[in-house]
Formats: sequence, C-alpha cells, structure tokens
Amino acid sequence: MTRIKFVNLYFTDLIGVFRNTSLLLSDEKDPSSVTTLFDGSSVYGFLDISFSDVILKPVKETEIVLPWDKNVYGYISQVYLPEWKRLDRDPRYIAEKAEEIIQSEGYRSVMGVEMEFFLFEKLKYIVEPGRQILEIYSAESPWTDNASIPLKKGYHIVESIDRVAHIRRSIISALHEAGLNTVKHHHEVASSGQVEITSNKENVVSLGDFIQYFKMIARKIARINGFEAVFMPKPIMGDNGNGMHIHVSLWSGDKNLFHDPDEKYGLSQFARYFIGGLLEHGRSLSAIVSPTTNSYRRLIPGYEAPVYLVWGYANRSAAVRIPLANIDNGNMTRIEYRPPDPTANPYLASSAIILAGLDGIKKKIDPGDPIEENVYKMPIEKRRSLGIRELPRNLDEALDELESDHEYLKPAFSEEVIQTYIELKRNEIRELAGIPSPAEFLYYNLI
Ligand code: GLN
Ligand code: MG
Ligand code: MG
Ligand code: MG
Repeated sequence: MTRIKFVNLYFTDLIGVFRNTSLLLSDEKDPSSVTTLFDGSSVYGFLDISFSDVILKPVKETEIVLPWDKNVYGYISQVYLPEWKRLDRDPRYIAEKAEEIIQSEGYRSVMGVEMEFFLFEKLKYIVEPGRQILEIYSAESPWTDNASIPLKKGYHIVESIDRVAHIRRSIISALHEAGLNTVKHHHEVASSGQVEITSNKENVVSLGDFIQYFKMIARKIARINGFEAVFMPKPIMGDNGNGMHIHVSLWSGDKNLFHDPDEKYGLSQFARYFIGGLLEHGRSLSAIVSPTTNSYRRLIPGYEAPVYLVWGYANRSAAVRIPLANIDNGNMTRIEYRPPDPTANPYLASSAIILAGLDGIKKKIDPGDPIEENVYKMPIEKRRSLGIRELPRNLDEALDELESDHEYLKPAFSEEVIQTYIELKRNEIRELAGIPSPAEFLYYNLI
C-alpha cells in the first residue's frame, strides 16, 4: 500500500494573507518539482476575473515538513502568469527585486525580527443570524475577574506566573523541527500572555518567508494547546500592543558597513545615512509597515511603541533605535526599525525599509543628532523647535503620504502595485468605518 503524501504550495497575497493549495504526491516524485494553477482573482490584489489563472512554482530552499503531520511537505512558491512571466504583484517577487538591488549596489543585508503576539487562552466566535461577535478571553486577562498580572506588568515574568512559557517552547520546538531557527523568547510587557520570539535571517526574502511560516506555525501550535495566537497590533485597551521590530545591517563581504569603531557607539556615517532615509520616508513607510486601522491604536504614547520620527540609542519612543547590546562586537551593530507590526506584509515591509534606507545612503540624508530624551514627555514647543515629526495618526493619513511619496519604492514596487495596494487599503478603511465600535457607546450615548 502506498502512503499518501501531500505538498502544500504557499504564497502571500498583496495585503499579506498567507495561503496555500495542496497536491497529492506519488512516491517517486520530487516534491519540489510540482507546480499547480490557482485562481488569482480570488485573493487580495492579484488579478482581475477576466484573466485569472496563475501558476505556483515551489522554491526548494523553503522546504518544510509540517511538524504536526510528517506526511506534508511545504514550499513557499513563486507566482507566475501563463508563459512563465513573474506576477508583478507577488510580494515575494518584490522582495526578490529588493534583494537584487541590495546586491547590485555591492551590499548584502543581515536582518532580524522580534515577533510579538498574544496567547489568549480561549477564543470563541459567537455567530447568530445577523450578528457576529468575536469573544476573546484569557485566564490572565483584565477582562476576567481573576487577572493575575496587572496591566503592563508582564515583562520577563517567571514560569510560576507566566502561564504560556510552555506554549512558547512548543512553538519554538515546532519551528526548529521545520528548520526555522529562533534566538530567544520571553513574556512581554502586557499582562495577558503577551510574548516575544526573535530570529535572525540572512536577507529580505528569507525574512519574509520566515515570518509567514512563523505566524502559521505559532497559530497552529497555540490552537493545539487550546490557546489562540493573536497578532493584532493593539488587541487590549490600556495595555501594550504587538510590534514587529525589524533589525537591519548592510555588509560588504565580511565587513559590517554599519560599524565604525571610531564613531560614537560604533555607528558609522553610512548607517546614519540609512537612518536618514528611514526618517525622511517614515510617514509613507507607515502605510506598508503599520498597514491596518488597528495599527494606529498601537502607535500612541505610553506603551513603548514609536510615535515620533526620531532616532536614538536605546530610546523606545523613537522610530529608530540603535541597540546598545554587544557594543564591543562590531558584527552586532545594527539599526532597529520599531514602527512595523505583525499585520504588515513582511515581504513588502522589509523591502520598503531597505529601499528607504538605500535612498538615504544615495542622497546622503543625515538624520541629525540622536534624541536621548523620552519624546513622549517633551513639551510640544521643544518638539517643534527640534523639527520632530510624528508618524501618521491613522491609516488614511499614511496612505495619503504613500500616494505623494513613493519614488524611492519604485526600483522594486511598480506603480500599479502601489496603486492597487492603496485602493485595497482604502476599501478596508471604508468597510471598517461602517462598523460602530463599543467605545462609541461610552462617548456618544451621553450626548
Ligand atoms: N510592544 C512594544 C511595541 O509595541 C515594544 C515593547 C518592547 O519590545 N520593549 O512596539
Ligand atoms: Mg525584544
Ligand atoms: Mg519586545
Ligand atoms: Mg525591539
């Protein structure tokens, strides 16, 4: 009797939803050699229904075997139009182009990511005719009577109080079994099972692949354990939100170009220009790295989330932070971009960050002096006199910025991709704007 095997071919649509189709595999066949067709008009931002067939071609290096079912191979796939032309709107293709640009400039990138998310103990959907409610609660949540950790007090708590440490370990074990390495993990600041797992990756494309696999595996393992992994940037009022900080350094061969032992904290002028590009384009970048209406509920003062377009050493109110850890080790010198959150399409986010930084290098945009004060607490007059700009307050504002500032993205993002993305996001805003929020009852029931 032949054992049935499956091959999952994964891809990501324009707004970042990870999807797959699954094929049956005969015993002899190399799983990385299969291809299949799917309907590109049924996913966000790909094709029009009048012409919808697209092809998935697996990328061999992205092979995983599903940790919960060893009969299933998985590959992240490239998306092609008939006649083997790459689909311009495939986000992975955009990341591949960004990667080629880095290489054609003579650099290579080293990337890292901090994945923050919540592990809620129970999540249930109540669906009634004409009514759909999502109810989330956890044993440690302030929404229940027995909250064991007060708001914003969860940072690095030990296992006697941290009720999700074992789930983090299960997630990490499953990731490693699938060949996806991580570096460290801990409970995060928020009270109710907020966690962080970090990883380093060699480039923009492999970072995107990692994040997409990560979210899929974390969600699945959490569910197997009766929990729900929630990647929304700001699920709980009054508590910290979820960031997806991205770390970058650019190298030439074995030399970290962001490091200069003669400069303060070992940070080179080259790295400062990269930061200059990030700050210059930070407002339009927001549309890609903080891409949901919920993203802007996170980007407010008081929760270690960035609000201001400034840079600093170890300054958590700044959009760009230079981690001071391992300061003696030039290899570790890097910048951390803090605005991204886990609802970002990781291929688009890391490509856009790199392109903004490269633009800063090309135009020699100096970011000025680092800000070491807590900008949240700085009087508004001082902020104005220092010319400190803020991140956009909402997604509409960010999209307006992207509309007027996207030349720097053009080497990897076509105009059509940018316009399609803006249109999808404007529609999303319109749909959500039509839904009354419970908070509006508090405010408007009084009037
Ligand atoms: N959760 C914070 C954010 O939203 C970051 C907290 C931290 O890592 N110090 O970005
Ligand atoms: Mg961290
Ligand atoms: Mg963190
Ligand atoms: Mg961080």
